[in-house]
Amino acid sequence: MDPKSKNIVWHEGKVKKEDREKLLGQKGIIIWLTGLPASGKSTIAHELEWKLLEMGKLAYVLDGDNIRHGLNSDLGFSPEDRKENIRRISEVAKLFAEAGLITITAFISPYREDRKRARNLVKDGEFIEVYVKCPVEKLIERDPKGLYKKALSGEIKEFTGISAPYEEPENPEILVETDKESVEESVGKILDYLRSKKII
Ligand code: ADP
Repeated sequence: MDPKSKNIVWHEGKVKKEDREKLLGQKGIIIWLTGLPASGKSTIAHELEWKLLEMGKLAYVLDGDNIRHGLNSDLGFSPEDRKENIRRISEVAKLFAEAGLITITAFISPYREDRKRARNLVKDGEFIEVYVKCPVEKLIERDPKGLYKKALSGEIKEFTGISAPYEEPENPEILVETDKESVEESVGKILDYLRSKKII
């Protein structure tokens, strides 16, 4: 989106992203988890953040409900609001990555176009899409917050996977299948990927 004001100039600081990355001994990137509600995004994100911390790496999770409490408390779940939700998060994630952090986002982010826009904010290789996949039947069984039950009874409208669409990633960098893998296995897959790309 073009800025409203035409009189603003991007200011490049003296300290560069590379300087911060050198200091931290890691690359500043975005790990973008996407998947249906209760597929395991949040669980995997926080476990990954913890594992990275144990390895001396600085990571930070941007998590759905928390962002909706603050930055995006004015947004609901209509298609326009979901789009704006993801747009703001993408910009925040970009800033965090620029700061040198391994930025982990845990949002349903159901639209392919929105995820693509987030990808296009950073350089090639700095956006790692992780599809956290789980069949909806399994999620209805899992239903940790009782939201599927409410969605199925019609109490919650526009619920992704039940009454709102989810567009599956076509070419995610990483696929984790939480009906088949443990949390540790999924996190392990992501860590292996980060090592193979020399991000950590
Ligand atoms: P999301 O952030 O995608 O909405 P959550 O992480 O909040 O999902 O919830 C996922 C639920 O599924 C948690 O209760 C978690 O304990 C459970 N779960 C069971 N197996 C797995 C797995 N292999 N990976 C991640 N979560 C799992």
